[in-house]
Amino acid sequence: MNADDTQQRLRALLATIDSELVGDARVVHKSRGMAERVGSFLDSRWSLKPAELSPLVCAARGWTNSDRNTLRCDECGSVLVCNVQQRLSPETVVQGFVERLTTHHKDSCRWRRSGVPPSDLVFPQLTPMQSRQALLARRDALERVIGSVQVSAGKAAQVVAECLCQEYIQPVSGAAAAMLLAALGWESATSAEDTHGSDSQAAVGIEPSIQGAGLIKCALCQRVCGLWLFSGGSRQPGGQTPPAFDALSQHRWFCPWIVPTGEVPSPGWQQTLPAMKTLTAKP
Ligand SMILES: [Zn+2]
Ligand SMILES: [Zn+2]
Repeated sequence: MNADDTQQRLRALLATIDSELVGDARVVHKSRGMAERVGSFLDSRWSLKPAELSPLVCAARGWTNSDRNTLRCDECGSVLVCNVQQRLSPETVVQGFVERLTTHHKDSCRWRRSGVPPSDLVFPQLTPMQSRQALLARRDALERVIGSVQVSAGKAAQVVAECLCQEYIQPVSGAAAAMLLAALGWESATSAEDTHGSDSQAAVGIEPSIQGAGLIKCALCQRVCGLWLFSGGSRQPGGQTPPAFDALSQHRWFCPWIVPTGEVPSPGWQQTLPAMKTLTAKP
């Protein structure tokens, strides 16, 4: 084998490794069914629960939210009613329910033996290259559905702007708004290839999109939002300008994008900042 051959094979091999490393890097729950179970929890049906009983924690033990204050296991059919309320229920009662998340499954149920791995309860760890790839993919898809929507994010918007060496203004629109949404964990849910799209649209009672503003979602807390509600084309009482979309507070309270999870003391969006900095880094 001559040197050219070897070099060519080596290059091909490196390209393969690269694409495997980056792959279709996305910030998602890795365990099968986890996203669907988290999505079953509605704020109206699972309200005022302490962090120990967040939708993520319950879903990680196989539970879905089938009714008001009610958990159901689709594997063994067990039903668990939980009237625990944040700040009103004593710690021992909360702990009792945390234990029941395991012990209330039938003996034969796999969820009694183990839950999803702890890595699926915290903000997903990607390599810097994957993180950057995922960020750019989210941004590119969001640019197609952002329409005329304005996006704000409080202090986080300032941090993101600094990271991108951009002037700090708020709210932002157009490409800058797509970037801010992407930086704070949002992705387009409008794309035709997205198999969840049609379900999500049905779930929120989709209206025809206005001025190109589409549906976006967070893959970790499963919040789905119709951007047309924040679009200049939507009807507002008294003809007021529509509110800006708050990219932080629209996540659900337990979302790893906005609250620290596991041993890392910062929320997911802050963990993504190093990847964002590479976008403007001089070679
Ligand atoms: Zn079960
Ligand atoms: Zn979220």
